[in-house]
Amino acid sequence: MAEQYDIVIVGGGIHGVGVAQAAAAHGYSVLVLEQGDLAGGTSGRSSKLIHGGLRYLESGRLALVAESLRERALLLKLAPELVRMRSFFFPIFRTTRRRPWQVRAGLSVYALLGGLRAAARFQRVDRRDWKTLDGLNTSDLEVVFRYQDAQTDDAALTRAVMRSAETLGAQLAAPARFSAAILTDDGCEIEYACNGRAESCCARVLVNAAGPWASRVLDCITPAPVCRAVELVQGAHIHVRGRLDAGIYYLEAPQDGRAVFVMPWQDGTLVGTTETRFDGDPGDVRVLPEERDYLLTVLEQYFPGFPSEVLDSFAGLRVLPVGVGPVFRRSRETFLDLDRAAGPRVLTIWGGKLTTFRSTAEKVIRRLGRSLPARIAVATTHTLELSPS
Ligand SMILES: Cc1cc2nc3c(=O)[nH]c(=O)nc-3n(C[C@H](O)[C@H](O)[C@H](O)COP(=O)(O)OP(=O)(O)OC[C@H]3O[C@@H](n4cnc5c(N)ncnc54)[C@H](O)[C@@H]3O)c2cc1C
Repeated sequence: MAEQYDIVIVGGGIHGVGVAQAAAAHGYSVLVLEQGDLAGGTSGRSSKLIHGGLRYLESGRLALVAESLRERALLLKLAPELVRMRSFFFPIFRTTRRRPWQVRAGLSVYALLGGLRAAARFQRVDRRDWKTLDGLNTSDLEVVFRYQDAQTDDAALTRAVMRSAETLGAQLAAPARFSAAILTDDGCEIEYACNGRAESCCARVLVNAAGPWASRVLDCITPAPVCRAVELVQGAHIHVRGRLDAGIYYLEAPQDGRAVFVMPWQDGTLVGTTETRFDGDPGDVRVLPEERDYLLTVLEQYFPGFPSEVLDSFAGLRVLPVGVGPVFRRSRETFLDLDRAAGPRVLTIWGGKLTTFRSTAEKVIRRLGRSLPARIAVATTHTLELSPS
């Protein structure tokens, strides 16, 4: 007889492993199917920031920023070796579109939402200290603000969450590719291929955490649940030789005013990101030559003496609701869709942030409550520590 689980999750990115951890903590039996490596999709190709998202204040997303800052505070406690506070610098030049008063106002709101803790405070960098800023171009520089936010290793964080889930009894099958599901009255029958062998199992609920592949997963379900209208937008990073010492820089791209981060990463520096519409197979996403040039131009503009030798580059895919206007103004909210309101059998996670994976996972479990049997919780994700391998 096919193995029976409370929850089967498609996708071993941060959302899939986050839901596995929360589900196992609530006492449910759970299996994660990952077609490649954990964090092999977007969750290993992000900007690696655990942050409130200062720029989301511009589009009035106060609730998202506040939730993210709460999750940041929790992750700093639960995963001190994986999530670390860093100094962020926001330089404002005569040509910068955002004026000093606007940035000051944004940072004040950010500090308020961060609970006015020491980590939330910001200050102006004294002009005499500009020379300590890694060779930042100071011609036409008016003001530099310094604030705090956090950085992580996104792939290591994803693996740590899966390990935590496994210690609570969750199972991982990888490489295991989900291929089909048939919805029944009270659950689903699932087919997947593990190491080339056809396997099947049953679940009360299927969680579709396949990120940019989510609509393809829905296509394999009978009867097919309604699919949200989303578009994929690729974000590229380049990893260049040479390291910044002072911290992470929040810059305005001279080409279009978008936010670009320049940050220390491993032995070099990471520069990202871009926003390019993507139509192909998510497995084929690659950094385009024009994205590489765009990011190098930002680096050269702000750090003229910096070596621009590209060591590596990678691109990930954002899943955003279809909309009009510039992509960077589009919602970064997480959407949770059910196949039916009463007794859902499929839940799909669209979009979202690395930072809010834990709170998203808890929302998923709450939304699925009525489809799942009563179980006794064995832990709470509020207190489960995460550590690197
Ligand atoms: C460029 C960029 C930068 C970002 N920077 C940040 C940041 O700094 N901070 C932040 O908080 N957020 C950031 N985000 C957002 C964050 O990275 C994503 O929201 C998050 O990683 C999405 O995780 P996921 O688990 O939903 O998807 P993914 O990580 O893409 O995981 C989906 C997984 O599903 C698997 N899969 C797909 N189909 C199947 C199948 N049929 N069978 C089995 N497995 C399957 C894939 O192999 C993949 O591993 C960024 C996003 C992008 C694109």
